[in-house]
Amino acid sequence: MLIKHGIGVSPGIAIGPAFVLGVEDFRVPQNYVSVAAAESEISRLHAAINKVTEEISANECLAEQHLGKQYAAIFAAHLQFLRDPKLIAEIETRIREQHQSPEFASTQVLRRYAKELQNLGNQYLAERAADIFDLERSLLRHLLGEQREELSHVTAPVVVLAHNLTPSETANLNREYVQAFVTEVGGSTSHTAILAGALEIPAIVGVGDFLTDVSGGELIIVDGEEGRVIVGPDDDTLNLYREKQASARTKVQHLQSRVEGAAETRDGTRIFVYGNIEFPEEAEHCRIRGADGIGLYRTEFLYMGSGKERTEEDHYQAYLNVIRSFPDRPVVIRTLDLGADKIPGVMRHVFRDISNPELGLRSIRVCLEYLTLFKTQLRAALRAGVEGDVRIMFPLISSLSEFRQAKMVVRDVWEDLDEQGIPFRRDMPVGMMVEVPSAALMAEEFAREADFFSIGTNDLIQYTLAADRSDPSVSKYYNPADPAILMLLRRVFAAGEQAGIPVTICGQMSSDPKFVPLLIGMGLRQFSVTPQAIPVVKEMIRNMSLADAQEVAQKVTQFELARDIESYLRGELRRFLPEDHFPQG
Ligand code: PEP
Ligand code: MG
Repeated sequence: MLIKHGIGVSPGIAIGPAFVLGVEDFRVPQNYVSVAAAESEISRLHAAINKVTEEISANECLAEQHLGKQYAAIFAAHLQFLRDPKLIAEIETRIREQHQSPEFASTQVLRRYAKELQNLGNQYLAERAADIFDLERSLLRHLLGEQREELSHVTAPVVVLAHNLTPSETANLNREYVQAFVTEVGGSTSHTAILAGALEIPAIVGVGDFLTDVSGGELIIVDGEEGRVIVGPDDDTLNLYREKQASARTKVQHLQSRVEGAAETRDGTRIFVYGNIEFPEEAEHCRIRGADGIGLYRTEFLYMGSGKERTEEDHYQAYLNVIRSFPDRPVVIRTLDLGADKIPGVMRHVFRDISNPELGLRSIRVCLEYLTLFKTQLRAALRAGVEGDVRIMFPLISSLSEFRQAKMVVRDVWEDLDEQGIPFRRDMPVGMMVEVPSAALMAEEFAREADFFSIGTNDLIQYTLAADRSDPSVSKYYNPADPAILMLLRRVFAAGEQAGIPVTICGQMSSDPKFVPLLIGMGLRQFSVTPQAIPVVKEMIRNMSLADAQEVAQKVTQFELARDIESYLRGELRRFLPEDHFPQG
Protein backbone atom coordinates (compact mmCIF):
# COMPACT_ATOMS: atom_id res chain seq x y z
CA MET A 1 0.00 0.00 0.00
CA LEU A 2 1.42 3.36 -1.03
CA ILE A 3 0.12 6.65 0.41
CA LYS A 4 0.84 9.99 -1.27
CA HIS A 5 -0.25 13.50 -0.41
CA GLY A 6 -1.06 16.44 -2.61
CA ILE A 7 -3.38 19.44 -2.70
CA GLY A 8 -7.02 18.38 -2.46
CA VAL A 9 -8.89 20.62 -4.90
CA SER A 10 -12.28 18.98 -5.10
CA PRO A 11 -13.79 17.10 -2.17
CA GLY A 12 -15.22 13.60 -2.01
CA ILE A 13 -13.89 10.08 -1.92
CA ALA A 14 -13.50 7.88 -4.98
CA ILE A 15 -12.41 4.26 -5.09
CA GLY A 16 -11.61 2.72 -8.45
CA PRO A 17 -9.04 1.21 -10.81
CA ALA A 18 -6.16 3.39 -12.00
CA PHE A 19 -5.98 4.70 -15.52
CA VAL A 20 -2.42 5.96 -15.85
CA LEU A 21 -2.52 8.59 -18.53
CA GLY A 22 0.45 9.45 -20.65
CA VAL A 23 2.63 6.55 -19.58
CA GLU A 24 0.07 3.99 -20.48
CA ASP A 25 -2.69 5.49 -22.62
CA PHE A 26 -4.78 2.42 -22.06
CA ARG A 27 -6.25 0.56 -19.16
CA VAL A 28 -5.52 -2.94 -17.91
CA PRO A 29 -9.03 -4.34 -17.59
CA GLN A 30 -8.26 -7.30 -15.35
CA ASN A 31 -5.56 -7.71 -12.72
CA TYR A 32 -6.16 -11.31 -11.68
CA VAL A 33 -7.01 -14.51 -13.50
CA SER A 34 -8.31 -17.90 -12.35
CA VAL A 35 -5.88 -20.55 -11.08
CA ALA A 36 -6.84 -22.85 -13.93
CA ALA A 37 -6.00 -20.23 -16.52
CA ALA A 38 -2.36 -19.79 -15.42
CA GLU A 39 -0.70 -21.87 -18.14
CA SER A 40 -2.75 -20.47 -20.99
CA GLU A 41 -2.06 -16.95 -19.67
CA ILE A 42 1.66 -17.70 -19.66
CA SER A 43 1.40 -18.78 -23.29
CA ARG A 44 -0.31 -15.50 -24.03
CA LEU A 45 2.58 -13.71 -22.34
CA HIS A 46 5.14 -15.53 -24.49
CA ALA A 47 3.20 -14.81 -27.65
CA ALA A 48 3.24 -11.10 -26.79
CA ILE A 49 6.95 -11.16 -25.92
CA ASN A 50 7.66 -12.82 -29.28
CA LYS A 51 5.68 -10.14 -31.12
CA VAL A 52 7.53 -7.34 -29.35
CA THR A 53 10.85 -9.11 -30.00
CA GLU A 54 10.03 -9.27 -33.73
CA GLU A 55 9.21 -5.57 -33.75
CA ILE A 56 12.41 -4.63 -31.98
CA SER A 57 14.50 -6.85 -34.27
CA ALA A 58 12.93 -5.17 -37.30
CA ASN A 59 13.76 -1.76 -35.83
CA GLU A 60 17.30 -2.92 -35.10
CA CYS A 61 17.82 -3.87 -38.77
CA LEU A 62 16.33 -0.61 -39.95
CA ALA A 63 18.52 1.43 -37.62
CA GLU A 64 21.63 -0.44 -38.67
CA GLN A 65 20.90 0.09 -42.38
CA HIS A 66 20.11 3.78 -42.11
CA LEU A 67 21.97 5.05 -39.07
CA GLY A 68 24.79 2.64 -38.37
CA LYS A 69 25.70 0.00 -35.83
CA GLN A 70 25.99 2.23 -32.80
CA TYR A 71 22.31 3.25 -33.08
CA ALA A 72 21.19 -0.31 -33.67
CA ALA A 73 22.84 -1.16 -30.34
CA ILE A 74 20.02 0.65 -28.53
CA PHE A 75 17.57 -1.92 -29.85
CA ALA A 76 19.93 -4.77 -29.16
CA ALA A 77 19.92 -3.71 -25.51
CA HIS A 78 16.11 -3.70 -25.49
CA LEU A 79 16.09 -7.20 -26.92
CA GLN A 80 18.53 -8.44 -24.38
CA PHE A 81 16.42 -7.02 -21.57
CA LEU A 82 13.17 -8.45 -22.85
CA ARG A 83 14.66 -11.92 -23.36
CA ASP A 84 16.31 -11.96 -19.95
CA PRO A 85 15.29 -15.32 -18.41
CA LYS A 86 15.26 -13.80 -14.92
CA LEU A 87 12.76 -11.13 -15.97
CA ILE A 88 10.52 -13.64 -17.73
CA ALA A 89 10.67 -16.01 -14.76
CA GLU A 90 9.61 -13.22 -12.43
CA ILE A 91 6.55 -12.42 -14.52
CA GLU A 92 5.67 -16.10 -14.86
CA THR A 93 5.89 -16.60 -11.10
CA ARG A 94 3.43 -13.82 -10.49
CA ILE A 95 0.99 -15.36 -12.97
CA ARG A 96 1.41 -18.86 -11.60
CA GLU A 97 1.59 -18.16 -7.87
CA GLN A 98 -0.25 -14.90 -7.38
CA HIS A 99 -2.73 -15.44 -10.22
CA GLN A 100 -1.95 -12.07 -11.72
CA SER A 101 -2.95 -11.42 -15.31
CA PRO A 102 0.04 -11.21 -17.71
CA GLU A 103 -0.75 -7.50 -18.25
CA PHE A 104 -0.70 -6.69 -14.56
CA ALA A 105 2.31 -8.91 -13.79
CA SER A 106 4.33 -7.38 -16.64
CA THR A 107 3.66 -3.80 -15.64
CA GLN A 108 4.43 -4.54 -11.98
CA VAL A 109 7.77 -6.18 -12.79
CA LEU A 110 8.85 -3.74 -15.51
CA ARG A 111 7.98 -0.74 -13.42
CA ARG A 112 9.94 -2.07 -10.50
CA TYR A 113 13.03 -2.29 -12.73
CA ALA A 114 12.40 1.18 -14.09
CA LYS A 115 12.08 2.55 -10.57
CA GLU A 116 15.32 0.88 -9.50
CA LEU A 117 17.14 2.48 -12.42
CA GLN A 118 15.69 5.87 -11.54
CA ASN A 119 16.88 5.53 -7.96
CA LEU A 120 20.51 4.62 -8.72
CA GLY A 121 21.48 8.28 -8.70
CA ASN A 122 22.99 8.12 -12.18
CA GLN A 123 21.46 10.42 -14.78
CA TYR A 124 22.27 8.12 -17.70
CA LEU A 125 20.73 5.07 -16.04
CA ALA A 126 17.72 7.06 -14.86
CA GLU A 127 17.02 8.00 -18.46
CA ARG A 128 17.10 4.33 -19.44
CA ALA A 129 13.94 3.93 -17.34
CA ALA A 130 12.11 5.53 -20.27
CA ASP A 131 13.19 2.56 -22.43
CA ILE A 132 11.57 0.18 -19.98
CA PHE A 133 8.33 2.16 -20.06
CA ASP A 134 8.48 1.86 -23.84
CA LEU A 135 8.81 -1.89 -23.57
CA GLU A 136 5.89 -1.96 -21.17
CA ARG A 137 3.73 -0.10 -23.65
CA SER A 138 4.67 -2.42 -26.49
CA LEU A 139 4.00 -5.50 -24.41
CA LEU A 140 0.65 -4.19 -23.23
CA ARG A 141 -0.33 -3.25 -26.75
CA HIS A 142 0.16 -6.85 -27.86
CA LEU A 143 -1.33 -8.43 -24.76
CA LEU A 144 -4.46 -6.34 -24.89
CA GLY A 145 -4.94 -6.28 -28.66
CA GLU A 146 -8.51 -5.28 -29.36
CA GLN A 147 -9.31 -5.03 -25.67
CA ARG A 148 -7.12 -1.97 -25.39
CA GLU A 149 -9.13 0.88 -24.02
CA GLU A 150 -8.23 4.54 -24.49
CA LEU A 151 -9.36 7.18 -22.07
CA SER A 152 -11.74 8.73 -24.55
CA HIS A 153 -13.44 5.36 -24.94
CA VAL A 154 -13.54 4.00 -21.38
CA THR A 155 -16.67 2.06 -20.64
CA ALA A 156 -16.19 1.46 -16.92
CA PRO A 157 -15.34 3.71 -13.95
CA VAL A 158 -11.67 4.71 -13.61
CA VAL A 159 -9.48 7.01 -11.55
CA VAL A 160 -7.29 9.03 -13.91
CA LEU A 161 -3.68 9.51 -12.84
CA ALA A 162 -1.59 11.89 -14.94
CA HIS A 163 1.56 13.95 -14.79
CA ASN A 164 -0.47 16.98 -15.78
CA LEU A 165 -3.85 17.69 -17.31
CA THR A 166 -4.43 20.85 -19.29
CA PRO A 167 -7.74 22.66 -18.75
CA SER A 168 -8.97 21.45 -22.12
CA GLU A 169 -7.99 17.83 -21.40
CA THR A 170 -9.80 18.13 -18.08
CA ALA A 171 -12.85 19.67 -19.73
CA ASN A 172 -13.01 16.67 -22.03
CA LEU A 173 -12.84 13.98 -19.36
CA ASN A 174 -15.75 11.62 -19.70
CA ARG A 175 -17.91 12.55 -16.72
CA GLU A 176 -19.74 9.28 -16.75
CA TYR A 177 -16.69 7.12 -16.08
CA VAL A 178 -13.93 9.31 -14.68
CA GLN A 179 -14.52 9.07 -10.94
CA ALA A 180 -11.59 11.19 -9.83
CA PHE A 181 -8.25 12.49 -11.04
CA VAL A 182 -4.82 12.95 -9.51
CA THR A 183 -1.94 14.87 -11.09
CA GLU A 184 1.74 15.05 -10.21
CA VAL A 185 1.86 18.81 -10.84
CA GLY A 186 -0.68 21.64 -10.52
CA GLY A 187 -1.66 24.24 -7.94
CA SER A 188 -4.71 24.85 -5.78
CA THR A 189 -6.34 27.46 -7.99
CA SER A 190 -5.13 26.31 -11.40
CA HIS A 191 -7.91 26.10 -13.97
CA THR A 192 -7.53 22.33 -14.00
CA ALA A 193 -8.28 22.31 -10.27
CA ILE A 194 -11.27 24.59 -10.79
CA LEU A 195 -12.59 22.28 -13.48
CA ALA A 196 -12.55 19.35 -11.07
CA GLY A 197 -15.17 21.28 -9.12
CA ALA A 198 -17.17 21.76 -12.31
CA LEU A 199 -17.01 18.05 -13.05
CA GLU A 200 -17.93 17.40 -9.41
CA ILE A 201 -15.35 14.67 -8.99
CA PRO A 202 -12.75 14.34 -6.22
CA ALA A 203 -9.36 15.62 -7.38
CA ILE A 204 -5.85 16.06 -6.05
CA VAL A 205 -3.04 18.01 -7.73
CA GLY A 206 0.64 18.57 -6.97
CA VAL A 207 1.30 15.06 -5.63
CA GLY A 208 4.85 14.96 -7.04
CA ASP A 209 6.40 12.00 -8.86
CA PHE A 210 4.42 8.84 -8.27
CA LEU A 211 3.18 7.52 -11.61
CA THR A 212 6.01 5.04 -11.92
CA ASP A 213 4.80 3.42 -8.69
CA VAL A 214 1.36 2.66 -10.09
CA SER A 215 0.21 0.12 -12.63
CA GLY A 216 -2.90 0.53 -14.72
CA GLY A 217 -5.83 -1.23 -13.10
CA GLU A 218 -4.45 -1.07 -9.54
CA LEU A 219 -7.03 -0.06 -6.99
CA ILE A 220 -6.81 3.59 -5.96
CA ILE A 221 -8.50 5.58 -3.21
CA VAL A 222 -8.72 9.34 -3.72
CA ASP A 223 -9.65 11.46 -0.73
CA GLY A 224 -10.18 14.88 -2.29
CA GLU A 225 -10.78 16.62 1.01
CA GLU A 226 -7.59 15.49 2.70
CA GLY A 227 -5.53 15.46 -0.50
CA ARG A 228 -4.60 11.80 0.04
CA VAL A 229 -4.08 9.12 -2.63
CA ILE A 230 -3.79 5.49 -1.62
CA VAL A 231 -2.46 2.97 -4.12
CA GLY A 232 -3.32 -0.69 -3.54
CA PRO A 233 -5.12 -0.25 -0.18
CA ASP A 234 -5.31 -3.17 2.25
CA ASP A 235 -8.71 -4.45 3.36
CA ASP A 236 -8.89 -2.39 6.57
CA THR A 237 -8.09 0.82 4.71
CA LEU A 238 -10.59 -0.02 2.02
CA ASN A 239 -13.34 -0.58 4.59
CA LEU A 240 -12.45 2.61 6.41
CA TYR A 241 -12.75 4.64 3.22
CA ARG A 242 -16.00 2.96 2.21
CA GLU A 243 -17.41 4.14 5.56
CA LYS A 244 -15.97 7.61 5.02
CA GLN A 245 -17.52 7.69 1.57
CA ALA A 246 -20.93 6.88 3.04
CA SER A 247 -20.62 9.50 5.79
CA ALA A 248 -19.46 12.16 3.31
CA ARG A 249 -22.61 11.43 1.30
CA THR A 250 -24.77 11.87 4.39
CA LYS A 251 -23.06 15.19 5.16
CA VAL A 252 -23.72 16.46 1.63
CA GLN A 253 -27.35 15.33 1.78
CA HIS A 254 -27.88 17.03 5.12
CA LEU A 255 -26.49 20.35 3.89
CA GLN A 256 -28.46 19.98 0.68
CA SER A 257 -31.70 19.61 2.65
CA ARG A 258 -31.14 23.11 4.08
CA VAL A 259 -30.30 25.11 0.97
CA GLU A 260 -33.75 26.58 0.31
CA GLY A 261 -34.31 30.26 1.01
CA ALA A 262 -32.08 33.29 1.34
CA ALA A 263 -28.84 33.22 3.30
CA GLU A 264 -29.03 35.66 6.20
CA THR A 265 -26.88 35.99 9.26
CA ARG A 266 -28.62 35.34 12.58
CA ASP A 267 -29.34 39.04 12.92
CA GLY A 268 -30.84 39.34 9.46
CA THR A 269 -28.00 40.63 7.24
CA ARG A 270 -28.67 39.36 3.75
CA ILE A 271 -25.69 37.74 2.07
CA PHE A 272 -25.92 36.71 -1.58
CA VAL A 273 -24.37 33.42 -2.62
CA TYR A 274 -23.90 33.03 -6.36
CA GLY A 275 -22.38 30.16 -8.30
CA ASN A 276 -19.26 30.02 -10.50
CA ILE A 277 -19.66 27.95 -13.64
CA GLU A 278 -17.58 26.85 -16.61
CA PHE A 279 -20.28 25.00 -18.56
CA PRO A 280 -23.92 26.08 -19.09
CA GLU A 281 -25.33 22.87 -17.61
CA GLU A 282 -23.74 23.70 -14.26
CA ALA A 283 -26.22 26.56 -13.83
CA GLU A 284 -28.85 23.99 -12.95
CA HIS A 285 -26.51 22.42 -10.35
CA CYS A 286 -26.21 25.87 -8.79
CA ARG A 287 -29.97 26.39 -8.76
CA ILE A 288 -30.54 23.03 -7.07
CA ARG A 289 -27.99 24.00 -4.44
CA GLY A 290 -29.80 27.22 -3.63
CA ALA A 291 -27.69 29.82 -5.48
CA ASP A 292 -28.93 33.39 -5.86
CA GLY A 293 -27.76 33.43 -9.47
CA ILE A 294 -24.54 33.05 -11.43
CA GLY A 295 -21.74 35.35 -10.25
CA LEU A 296 -19.13 34.12 -12.71
CA TYR A 297 -19.63 32.32 -15.97
CA ARG A 298 -16.17 31.49 -17.36
CA THR A 299 -17.30 31.64 -20.98
CA GLU A 300 -13.94 30.74 -22.50
CA PHE A 301 -14.64 27.08 -21.72
CA LEU A 302 -16.95 27.11 -24.73
CA TYR A 303 -13.69 26.99 -26.71
CA MET A 304 -11.96 24.31 -24.70
CA GLY A 305 -11.79 20.99 -26.45
CA SER A 306 -13.55 22.34 -29.50
CA GLY A 307 -11.63 22.30 -32.72
CA LYS A 308 -13.67 25.10 -34.27
CA GLU A 309 -14.32 28.79 -34.00
CA ARG A 310 -17.39 29.74 -31.98
CA THR A 311 -20.20 31.69 -33.60
CA GLU A 312 -22.45 34.35 -32.11
CA GLU A 313 -25.22 31.76 -32.11
CA ASP A 314 -23.06 29.27 -30.13
CA HIS A 315 -22.49 31.92 -27.46
CA TYR A 316 -26.12 33.03 -27.49
CA GLN A 317 -27.47 29.50 -27.06
CA ALA A 318 -25.03 28.83 -24.20
CA TYR A 319 -26.21 32.00 -22.41
CA LEU A 320 -29.87 31.11 -22.91
CA ASN A 321 -29.12 27.74 -21.34
CA VAL A 322 -27.78 29.43 -18.24
CA ILE A 323 -30.63 31.95 -18.09
CA ARG A 324 -33.12 29.08 -18.22
CA SER A 325 -32.03 28.05 -14.71
CA PHE A 326 -32.11 31.65 -13.43
CA PRO A 327 -34.69 33.56 -15.50
CA ASP A 328 -35.00 36.42 -13.00
CA ARG A 329 -31.69 36.27 -11.15
CA PRO A 330 -28.34 37.82 -12.04
CA VAL A 331 -26.19 35.98 -14.54
CA VAL A 332 -22.71 37.49 -14.85
CA ILE A 333 -21.13 36.69 -18.18
CA ARG A 334 -17.40 37.16 -17.99
CA THR A 335 -15.99 37.94 -21.40
CA LEU A 336 -13.37 35.56 -22.78
CA ASP A 337 -10.41 34.97 -20.50
CA LEU A 338 -8.31 33.12 -23.06
CA GLY A 339 -4.57 32.73 -22.92
CA ALA A 340 -2.15 31.57 -20.20
CA ASP A 341 -3.26 27.96 -19.57
CA LYS A 342 -6.47 28.30 -21.61
CA ILE A 343 -5.46 28.07 -25.25
CA PRO A 344 -7.97 26.63 -27.69
CA GLY A 345 -6.58 24.69 -30.65
CA VAL A 346 -8.08 27.13 -33.17
CA MET A 347 -6.22 30.04 -31.60
CA ARG A 348 -2.83 28.47 -30.99
CA HIS A 349 -1.17 30.84 -33.48
CA VAL A 350 -2.25 33.85 -31.38
CA PHE A 351 -0.31 32.65 -28.36
CA ARG A 352 2.84 31.39 -30.05
CA ASP A 353 6.14 32.68 -28.69
CA ILE A 354 4.78 34.19 -25.50
CA SER A 355 7.59 33.84 -23.00
CA ASN A 356 5.56 34.41 -19.86
CA PRO A 357 1.91 33.54 -20.55
CA GLU A 358 0.50 34.74 -17.21
CA LEU A 359 1.96 38.19 -17.88
CA GLY A 360 1.52 38.16 -21.63
CA LEU A 361 -1.30 38.42 -24.10
CA ARG A 362 -4.16 37.08 -22.02
CA SER A 363 -7.80 37.74 -21.27
CA ILE A 364 -9.20 41.22 -22.03
CA ARG A 365 -5.93 42.01 -23.83
CA VAL A 366 -6.69 39.28 -26.36
CA CYS A 367 -10.24 40.60 -26.84
CA LEU A 368 -9.04 44.14 -27.44
CA GLU A 369 -6.48 42.86 -29.93
CA TYR A 370 -8.94 40.61 -31.77
CA LEU A 371 -12.03 42.79 -31.94
CA THR A 372 -14.12 40.47 -34.09
CA LEU A 373 -13.78 37.76 -31.48
CA PHE A 374 -14.77 40.23 -28.75
CA LYS A 375 -17.68 41.77 -30.64
CA THR A 376 -19.12 38.37 -31.54
CA GLN A 377 -19.35 37.51 -27.88
CA LEU A 378 -20.66 40.92 -26.83
CA ARG A 379 -23.43 40.77 -29.42
CA ALA A 380 -24.57 37.43 -28.01
CA ALA A 381 -24.44 38.69 -24.41
CA LEU A 382 -26.33 41.91 -25.17
CA ARG A 383 -28.99 39.96 -27.06
CA ALA A 384 -29.32 37.43 -24.23
CA GLY A 385 -29.99 40.39 -21.91
CA VAL A 386 -33.49 40.58 -23.36
CA GLU A 387 -34.21 37.16 -21.84
CA GLY A 388 -32.76 37.60 -18.34
CA ASP A 389 -30.82 39.69 -15.84
CA VAL A 390 -27.52 39.39 -17.71
CA ARG A 391 -24.47 41.43 -16.73
CA ILE A 392 -21.17 41.77 -18.55
CA MET A 393 -17.85 41.55 -16.76
CA PHE A 394 -14.35 42.14 -18.14
CA PRO A 395 -11.48 40.07 -16.75
CA LEU A 396 -7.89 41.12 -16.00
CA ILE A 397 -8.49 44.87 -16.23
CA SER A 398 -5.24 46.59 -15.33
CA SER A 399 -5.80 50.26 -16.19
CA LEU A 400 -8.59 52.78 -16.52
CA SER A 401 -7.87 53.31 -20.19
CA GLU A 402 -8.22 49.60 -20.83
CA PHE A 403 -11.59 49.52 -19.05
CA ARG A 404 -12.79 52.54 -21.03
CA GLN A 405 -11.63 50.97 -24.26
CA ALA A 406 -13.56 47.77 -23.50
CA LYS A 407 -16.68 49.80 -22.71
CA MET A 408 -16.28 51.66 -26.00
CA VAL A 409 -16.42 48.33 -27.82
CA VAL A 410 -19.72 47.61 -26.06
CA ARG A 411 -21.06 50.90 -27.40
CA ASP A 412 -19.87 50.04 -30.91
CA VAL A 413 -21.77 46.78 -30.64
CA TRP A 414 -24.91 48.66 -29.50
CA GLU A 415 -24.71 50.74 -32.63
CA ASP A 416 -24.31 47.71 -34.87
CA LEU A 417 -27.28 45.96 -33.25
CA ASP A 418 -29.35 49.15 -33.46
CA GLU A 419 -28.57 49.53 -37.14
CA GLN A 420 -29.53 45.93 -37.78
CA GLY A 421 -32.74 46.28 -35.74
CA ILE A 422 -31.75 43.41 -33.44
CA PRO A 423 -33.26 43.61 -29.92
CA PHE A 424 -30.78 43.85 -27.04
CA ARG A 425 -30.55 45.22 -23.54
CA ARG A 426 -29.00 48.69 -23.63
CA ASP A 427 -28.82 49.29 -19.89
CA MET A 428 -26.96 46.07 -19.16
CA PRO A 429 -24.64 46.55 -16.15
CA VAL A 430 -20.98 46.41 -17.12
CA GLY A 431 -18.54 45.49 -14.38
CA MET A 432 -14.98 44.36 -14.04
CA MET A 433 -12.89 41.82 -12.25
CA VAL A 434 -10.41 43.15 -9.77
CA GLU A 435 -7.64 40.61 -10.12
CA VAL A 436 -4.58 42.65 -10.96
CA PRO A 437 -3.00 44.59 -8.07
CA SER A 438 -3.12 47.84 -10.10
CA ALA A 439 -6.91 47.55 -10.29
CA ALA A 440 -7.19 46.97 -6.54
CA LEU A 441 -4.96 49.96 -5.85
CA MET A 442 -7.03 52.14 -8.19
CA ALA A 443 -10.36 50.76 -6.96
CA GLU A 444 -11.71 54.18 -6.01
CA GLU A 445 -11.19 55.52 -9.53
CA PHE A 446 -12.58 52.38 -11.16
CA ALA A 447 -15.63 52.43 -8.87
CA ARG A 448 -16.78 55.66 -10.53
CA GLU A 449 -16.94 53.95 -13.90
CA ALA A 450 -17.79 50.30 -13.22
CA ASP A 451 -21.29 49.08 -12.36
CA PHE A 452 -19.86 46.36 -10.12
CA PHE A 453 -16.64 44.72 -8.99
CA SER A 454 -15.88 41.05 -8.70
CA ILE A 455 -12.59 40.23 -7.05
CA GLY A 456 -10.68 37.40 -8.68
CA THR A 457 -8.51 36.33 -5.79
CA ASN A 458 -6.99 33.44 -7.76
CA ASP A 459 -5.12 35.86 -9.98
CA LEU A 460 -4.91 38.70 -7.48
CA ILE A 461 -2.92 36.46 -5.13
CA GLN A 462 -0.56 35.18 -7.84
CA TYR A 463 0.17 38.68 -9.14
CA THR A 464 0.49 40.29 -5.69
CA LEU A 465 2.66 37.60 -4.12
CA ALA A 466 4.51 36.66 -7.33
CA ALA A 467 3.56 32.99 -6.94
CA ASP A 468 2.25 31.05 -9.92
CA ARG A 469 -1.18 29.68 -9.01
CA SER A 470 -0.48 26.45 -10.96
CA ASP A 471 2.95 25.67 -9.57
CA PRO A 472 3.03 23.43 -6.48
CA SER A 473 6.68 24.27 -5.84
CA VAL A 474 5.67 27.83 -4.86
CA SER A 475 2.38 26.93 -3.19
CA LYS A 476 3.75 27.99 0.19
CA TYR A 477 4.08 31.53 -1.17
CA TYR A 478 0.54 31.54 -2.52
CA ASN A 479 -1.64 32.35 0.46
CA PRO A 480 -5.06 34.06 0.50
CA ALA A 481 -4.54 34.82 4.20
CA ASP A 482 -1.50 36.98 3.51
CA PRO A 483 -2.00 40.40 5.13
CA ALA A 484 -1.08 42.07 1.81
CA ILE A 485 -4.06 40.35 0.17
CA LEU A 486 -6.40 41.31 3.00
CA MET A 487 -5.18 44.89 2.70
CA LEU A 488 -6.09 44.97 -1.00
CA LEU A 489 -9.49 43.39 -0.31
CA ARG A 490 -10.27 46.02 2.31
CA ARG A 491 -9.37 48.71 -0.17
CA VAL A 492 -11.71 47.31 -2.81
CA PHE A 493 -14.58 46.80 -0.34
CA ALA A 494 -14.22 50.39 0.86
CA ALA A 495 -14.17 51.78 -2.70
CA GLY A 496 -17.27 49.76 -3.59
CA GLU A 497 -19.12 50.91 -0.52
CA GLN A 498 -18.22 54.54 -1.04
CA ALA A 499 -19.39 54.47 -4.66
CA GLY A 500 -22.45 52.35 -3.83
CA ILE A 501 -21.58 49.52 -6.23
CA PRO A 502 -21.77 45.81 -5.36
CA VAL A 503 -18.57 43.90 -4.70
CA THR A 504 -18.35 40.12 -5.04
CA ILE A 505 -15.46 37.73 -4.54
CA CYS A 506 -15.50 35.04 -7.21
CA GLY A 507 -12.00 33.62 -6.64
CA GLN A 508 -11.65 30.31 -4.81
CA MET A 509 -10.98 32.12 -1.53
CA SER A 510 -14.68 32.76 -1.04
CA SER A 511 -15.47 29.04 -1.49
CA ASP A 512 -13.22 28.19 1.45
CA PRO A 513 -15.38 28.03 4.60
CA LYS A 514 -12.64 29.33 6.87
CA PHE A 515 -12.65 32.70 5.09
CA VAL A 516 -16.43 33.21 5.18
CA PRO A 517 -16.68 34.92 8.62
CA LEU A 518 -13.61 37.06 7.93
CA LEU A 519 -14.89 38.27 4.56
CA ILE A 520 -18.34 39.11 5.93
CA GLY A 521 -16.73 40.90 8.85
CA MET A 522 -14.61 42.90 6.40
CA GLY A 523 -17.76 43.99 4.54
CA LEU A 524 -18.35 41.41 1.80
CA ARG A 525 -22.05 40.79 1.07
CA GLN A 526 -21.78 38.80 -2.16
CA PHE A 527 -20.00 35.49 -2.58
CA SER A 528 -19.60 33.67 -5.85
CA VAL A 529 -18.45 30.14 -5.19
CA THR A 530 -18.00 26.74 -6.81
CA PRO A 531 -21.35 24.90 -7.04
CA GLN A 532 -20.35 22.29 -4.48
CA ALA A 533 -19.52 24.98 -1.90
CA ILE A 534 -22.89 26.78 -2.07
CA PRO A 535 -24.62 24.71 0.65
CA VAL A 536 -21.77 24.92 3.15
CA VAL A 537 -21.27 28.66 2.64
CA LYS A 538 -25.01 29.26 3.18
CA GLU A 539 -24.94 27.10 6.30
CA MET A 540 -22.06 29.08 7.77
CA ILE A 541 -23.71 32.42 7.07
CA ARG A 542 -26.82 31.29 8.90
CA ASN A 543 -24.77 30.19 11.89
CA MET A 544 -23.15 33.58 12.56
CA SER A 545 -24.20 37.07 13.48
CA LEU A 546 -22.72 40.14 11.87
CA ALA A 547 -21.10 40.99 15.22
CA ASP A 548 -19.41 37.55 15.26
CA ALA A 549 -18.01 38.14 11.79
CA GLN A 550 -16.82 41.64 12.65
CA GLU A 551 -15.10 40.31 15.74
CA VAL A 552 -13.20 37.81 13.56
CA ALA A 553 -12.18 40.55 11.10
CA GLN A 554 -11.05 42.78 13.96
CA LYS A 555 -9.00 40.01 15.53
CA VAL A 556 -7.27 39.27 12.23
CA THR A 557 -5.88 42.81 12.06
CA GLN A 558 -3.76 41.94 15.10
CA PHE A 559 -1.76 39.29 13.25
CA GLU A 560 1.20 40.06 11.03
CA LEU A 561 1.78 36.63 9.51
CA ALA A 562 -0.37 34.68 7.05
CA ARG A 563 0.36 31.52 9.02
CA ASP A 564 -1.11 33.00 12.23
CA ILE A 565 -4.17 34.35 10.42
CA GLU A 566 -4.80 31.00 8.82
CA SER A 567 -4.55 29.00 12.00
CA TYR A 568 -6.78 31.47 13.85
CA LEU A 569 -9.43 31.22 11.11
CA ARG A 570 -9.22 27.45 11.09
CA GLY A 571 -9.89 27.46 14.83
CA GLU A 572 -12.86 29.80 14.43
CA LEU A 573 -14.50 27.46 11.93
CA ARG A 574 -15.82 25.35 14.78
CA ARG A 575 -17.94 28.22 15.97
CA PHE A 576 -19.88 28.43 12.73
CA LEU A 577 -19.89 24.94 11.34
CA PRO A 578 -21.19 21.84 13.13
CA GLU A 579 -18.41 19.35 13.82
CA ASP A 580 -19.73 16.79 11.34
CA HIS A 581 -19.51 19.32 8.48
CA PHE A 582 -16.02 20.34 9.31
CA PRO A 583 -13.64 20.25 6.35
CA GLN A 584 -10.59 18.14 7.11
CA GLY A 585 -8.21 19.59 4.52
C1 PEP B 1 -9.79 34.63 -10.35
O1 PEP B 1 -8.73 34.93 -10.91
O2 PEP B 1 -9.95 34.63 -9.10
C2 PEP B 1 -10.95 34.22 -11.15
C3 PEP B 1 -12.12 34.02 -10.59
O3 PEP B 1 -10.76 34.01 -12.47
P1 PEP B 1 -10.04 32.69 -13.05
O4 PEP B 1 -9.89 31.71 -11.91
O5 PEP B 1 -10.91 32.16 -14.13
O6 PEP B 1 -8.74 33.22 -13.54
MG1 MG C 1 -8.70 35.29 -13.03
